[in-house]
Amino acid sequence: MSIFINDDLCTGCGSCSDACPFVGIEIIDNKAVITESCNFCGVCLDVCPVDAILIERKEYEVEKLDLSEFKGVWVIAEHYKNIIHPVVFQLLGKGGDLAKELEVNLTLVILGADFDDNLKELSRYGPDEILYIKSPVLKHFYSDLYAQALTELIHKNKPEIILIGATPTGRDFAPRIAKRLNAGLTADCTGLEIDQTTRNLLQTRPTFGGTLMATIRTPNSRPQMATVRPGIFVSQLESENEAKIKKIDFKFKEKDLVTKIVKVIEREKSSVNLEDAEIIVAGGRGVGSKQNFKIIEELAEVLGAELGGSRVTVELGWLDQNRQIGQTGKTVSPKLYIACGISGAIQHLVGIQSAEIIVAINKDRTAPIFNVAHYGIVGDLEEIVPLLIEALKKEIS
Ligand SMILES: Cc1cc2nc3c(=O)[nH]c(=O)nc-3n(C[C@H](O)[C@H](O)[C@H](O)COP(=O)(O)OP(=O)(O)OC[C@H]3O[C@@H](n4cnc5c(N)ncnc54)[C@H](O)[C@@H]3O)c2cc1C
Repeated sequence: MSIFINDDLCTGCGSCSDACPFVGIEIIDNKAVITESCNFCGVCLDVCPVDAILIERKEYEVEKLDLSEFKGVWVIAEHYKNIIHPVVFQLLGKGGDLAKELEVNLTLVILGADFDDNLKELSRYGPDEILYIKSPVLKHFYSDLYAQALTELIHKNKPEIILIGATPTGRDFAPRIAKRLNAGLTADCTGLEIDQTTRNLLQTRPTFGGTLMATIRTPNSRPQMATVRPGIFVSQLESENEAKIKKIDFKFKEKDLVTKIVKVIEREKSSVNLEDAEIIVAGGRGVGSKQNFKIIEELAEVLGAELGGSRVTVELGWLDQNRQIGQTGKTVSPKLYIACGISGAIQHLVGIQSAEIIVAINKDRTAPIFNVAHYGIVGDLEEIVPLLIEALKKEIS
């Protein structure tokens, strides 16, 4: 894309620089000059009274695809040392529902070096087929190789939907594949549905800083790719299912490997495990101070729960960042979530939407948290939480 100023026409009136929201155009020596901040938004074109500005956009050619050639739902597995990431089982659960609705197969795709013995076990999570891409070099995760092998496989097999975990690994290789395939990719989906009339995948995700939920479709390209954070969907366990296993020995060339793993340094395991916690007690700004968090911690302790909080509590230094729940924190799916002094901003709610039971304690009866809470207590948490602790202690003893 290029932008030009016709100096013969430009009068240096300044309408363009006044209108530009990015300081992308300045008036120098009575003529408009484009700066590095220009992002080609085109506002200057609209306001220029003498049509002195021109943007040349290259026509983006979209390859016309026969969408009916694309069939099936794929889940791409992520694993470390042959241990499958829990998000994969959750995606198989949701992928199974989508596949049923579309009356197509659900396929689990695994890239690895020595996964042969674990494949049967994975059948229990419901895939109709397991595609195992095997190569000694796939012992480790290499983004380039994942992108290369999967792109080739997708070209050949033409799945219509591909689900990938929104983990650091998934976020690394998913866009590379989407770019190579010219396919649409929606990151961090919190909802996936099928539009029955068009068979399009409706991909819902928070947008504009989480203030809106957008539902995105990619009606002209295939496959439809989506990443989903851990904890959004639930896995469907213990299926009697026996998947058809197809092994593909994949031959990479030396030149394919543009990076090399020299050493793997294990990160110290965090003792915080919010994603798997069955009970979470979380505090928000309403807790009042770091000191006051002691009562929230005590309630968590009595219940054998993990401690969490809203982003505000992290920003105020009351809690560690790894305890933040929400859009920019962890996504959790406990059986019981107790929110103390949390207002229920959308960015917080997207992180707890899979919680089975939500209990909210808030002194403001109009707080949005009460719209999603199954049980609400209106009152001062400084009075209510100690009463709860006392009652629970009595119950336990
Ligand atoms: C891009 C972006 C990403 C974000 N990501 C996240 C995220 O991941 N997680 C997140 O949590 N937020 C996130 N936020 C911030 C979010 O918008 C809210 O600002 C935040 O969740 C509010 O936190 P809070 O509920 O603790 O505080 P507040 O909104 O200030 O609410 C405090 C609540 O406590 C109640 N209260 C006060 N005193 C008492 C008392 N004594 N007893 C009982 N109740 C009391 C009040 O009535 C109020 O409802 C994000 C924002 C943006 C823009």
